[in-house]
Amino acid sequence: MIVLDMEWNRGYDKKPLNEILQIGAVRMERPGGPIVDVFNACIRPTVHKKFDLGAKKLPELGAFKASHQRFPGAAEAFRAWCGGDRVFAGWGGGDIETLNENCKYWGLAPFEAGEFFDFQRAFAHAVGADQQIALWRAAEYCGIPDVFDYHSAVNDAMYTAVLSRWLTQEDLAWRPQPTPPKRRRAALRLTQVPFPRQARQRLGPTATPEEVLDARSSRTALCPLCGRKQGIARWHFIAPKEGRTAQQYYGVFTCPEHGRFLCRLTLTRREEDGLWLGRRSVPEVTPELTQEYAAALDGGVHICRGCGRRRRKKPARPAEPGAGES
Ligand SMILES: [Zn+2]
Repeated sequence: MIVLDMEWNRGYDKKPLNEILQIGAVRMERPGGPIVDVFNACIRPTVHKKFDLGAKKLPELGAFKASHQRFPGAAEAFRAWCGGDRVFAGWGGGDIETLNENCKYWGLAPFEAGEFFDFQRAFAHAVGADQQIALWRAAEYCGIPDVFDYHSAVNDAMYTAVLSRWLTQEDLAWRPQPTPPKRRRAALRLTQVPFPRQARQRLGPTATPEEVLDARSSRTALCPLCGRKQGIARWHFIAPKEGRTAQQYYGVFTCPEHGRFLCRLTLTRREEDGLWLGRRSVPEVTPELTQEYAAALDGGVHICRGCGRRRRKKPARPAEPGAGES
């Protein structure tokens, strides 16, 4: 069994690739068993020019920049190291997907998992949590000493492997209840009416990402067809890798006459002063956009502050003596 972890960089450009910077893995005899071998590859970034915020914080960033290894060589070395083993595990299921996304980008064959164990999902079940638990938190919970830096792929693979000692067969077999498809279909029902191209809006700068998301100007949108003002109450986002801030947010507003429209908000952090900026658009409804939004619905949600304000109940007025009897 191979327990793997990847570190990557999304960059800020239009190339839609989470470029892998490090492949880390350990080999175990079985879940909870001893670690018998280690694989680590630091990869020189060649796709994106800039590092995103999460990538900038990676403890081994210097090693990636200094590395002479490119992704294709590292991936093939990893494939050779895996040998015939097709049982994979990870903390969450995203790493092998990202690995295969990179393989596709470079024209390499994908890694096909005969079986995949999501130790994060199993761990949530083991401790009775109703949400995913960060790797460092799980390790802290189990009293595993944090002698190695997190967010180094090889260390995270090692922590993931060690944590599997806390998992039972039942935890490993557990699957969450699927989201009822009906709710999803309703949420995805965006307007099919074509509308004119909408101007982009700039938001911020603000000190925190939340202030951009909560700003009145971010949460107010005009129907592209009739110009009526509508509100956005929440932003959905594709869950970012641990410890990072999501960059793309999706919010819906409804015009009673023209239907549901999707706003996309992109957050960036300004290099010079660290302030947060938002760019908001109402893009054309395409199958790709609907797919992005569906993925965001399965991810995280930011409920905007101040959205419930108008609905707040007034304190009940104490009955005055004699009132109501005229
Ligand atoms: Zn309208």
